[in-house]
Amino acid sequence: MEDNQTTSFNISDDLYGYSSTTARELPEPDVHIITSDALRIPAHSSILASVSPVLENIIDRPRKHRSSERVIPILGVPYDAVVSFVRFLYSSRSSEEEMEKYGIHLLALSHVYLVPQLKQSCTKVLGERLTMENVVDVLQLAKMCDAPNLYLKCMKLVANHFKAVEKTEGWKFLQDHDPWLELDILHFMDEAESRKKRSRRLREEQSLYLQLSEAMECLEHICTEGCTNVGPYEMEPTEKKGPCSKFSTCQGLQLSIRHFATCTIRVNGGCLRCKRMWQLLRLHSSICEHHDSCRVPLCRQFKLKMQQENKKDDARWKLLVRKVVSAKAISSLSLPKRKRDDLHETSNDGIRSFRL
Ligand SMILES: [Zn+2]
Ligand SMILES: [Zn+2]
Ligand SMILES: [Zn+2]
Repeated sequence: MEDNQTTSFNISDDLYGYSSTTARELPEPDVHIITSDALRIPAHSSILASVSPVLENIIDRPRKHRSSERVIPILGVPYDAVVSFVRFLYSSRSSEEEMEKYGIHLLALSHVYLVPQLKQSCTKVLGERLTMENVVDVLQLAKMCDAPNLYLKCMKLVANHFKAVEKTEGWKFLQDHDPWLELDILHFMDEAESRKKRSRRLREEQSLYLQLSEAMECLEHICTEGCTNVGPYEMEPTEKKGPCSKFSTCQGLQLSIRHFATCTIRVNGGCLRCKRMWQLLRLHSSICEHHDSCRVPLCRQFKLKMQQENKKDDARWKLLVRKVVSAKAISSLSLPKRKRDDLHETSNDGIRSFRL
């Protein structure tokens, strides 16, 4: 009896993660946890029950004989992992080393025995330590243990490094044993790919509208103030001032305006360059709010024509106008300054190739 007690106290010091004085203040253990390898861990039913509602249920279950010893089996994980689990129940703490070694087991135990604080820290630690080698195992566990954040993190890693993950033992095991999860992964990858495509297309569209919006600014600036060689008749060419800040767009437009003014084929003759300029002028007119004071060629004529024909712009044209107007606002809100400048630089080619 004497010997037994000493052993139990020694275990307590180590097991419960308390200082030896606190451990000595605990009453005698009144339950035993039995592990898969038939080892016994003495514990206190009141503490187990206060942390885990599942253990509380097991403890409260009526026993066959009042005198029979209380035993709680925790099976399916190594003894040391169960010790770590019990230590957490007593101290609400797990060491780095324990997490490193038994994180996967602790996640499973915290899920089964409903210990949310432990589940939370396991999820966090496992998420930080994902590797190509363990990601499929953790993914399976995250699914089983209903840990959505960890599950998503695993999915993303698998999707982004599929070539490497595909070669792991974990993946081969999964293919043989969990075809549903394999299907989930492939589906996720497919979705991720189309998400990427969708946002790439949106970015391209956005940059096109931005180019148009910049062209609109330049058009007004050329026709109002004049820029380098092109401008209103009564204004002196501004060569002395040097090119404006959007000169690559501006210059292309100037060339187009010159062409438009001198072309012999013209829009009706089927000149493509003139047609584009015509559309830009029409777009300007749709956006322009200066009415009679506007200096941009054909602005007033387009407006008049619309009034006379009493015709509303068609829906697609309206949408284009709206998108061009909002492109500028969106881009200046959502891009940091450096990126905005980059975009202007890269868009120059676009301007030239599509408009002039
Ligand atoms: Zn200019
Ligand atoms: Zn032409
Ligand atoms: Zn105008």
